[in-house]
Amino acid sequence: MTPETELRRLKDVLALQQSDVEVVGVDQGADIAASLRAAGLGFIVDGLALMDVTEDEIAKAQIRHHPRLSDLLWHSSSLLKPTHPSMFRSEFVYRAHCRELLDRVAAGTPTEYGTAAEVCLAVLAVATVTPINTAAMGLHLRMWKLAGLPALGGPGENLPHYEAIAGSKIDDLETTARKKLRVEDRVLGDIRCCGQHNGVHVRCEYASVSRIAAA
Ligand SMILES: [Zn+2]
Repeated sequence: MTPETELRRLKDVLALQQSDVEVVGVDQGADIAASLRAAGLGFIVDGLALMDVTEDEIAKAQIRHHPRLSDLLWHSSSLLKPTHPSMFRSEFVYRAHCRELLDRVAAGTPTEYGTAAEVCLAVLAVATVTPINTAAMGLHLRMWKLAGLPALGGPGENLPHYEAIAGSKIDDLETTARKKLRVEDRVLGDIRCCGQHNGVHVRCEYASVSRIAAA
């Protein structure tokens, strides 16, 4: 399979869902969303769905990481915003983006730099206007896998080949891409908690003692 064919297949995964949303509208889109979600390939139909997906990823991260990080992860929702139209159209891309940012919060590493999902979308955007080289194709496949995006058969299986012939160039390109996609204000500032999460009184470590006492 040529790089061009591989890229076309990857792009089709996103484009398919985009055309579904545009053609069927929101009402019918909800039905299709349910079936796509069942296949792990849903799309986000409105702002409420976006909130649901964001909260679901936070809940999963709270399970994935140590309980002592639960409050920190709950207060990380301000970092979780779609940065590309395809994140609305392709739920699995947005989920991958959230997952990586939440894992960075848990690890205490910077959240400004581009996520693997953002790098994937950036490479696809470039590839629509100009041919891309071996390292860029390798970067795309590496990021697709790292983001945990759906296995696509052929393209993903060729990643070891790209790593073998252009691994160090892919490393450099990844560093550059993540820096270029940096979102300057995607950082957690001081966290203040009113002592309630989703309207429920909690003993959050970021709530002041007086607020908890008043709850
Ligand atoms: Zn709190």
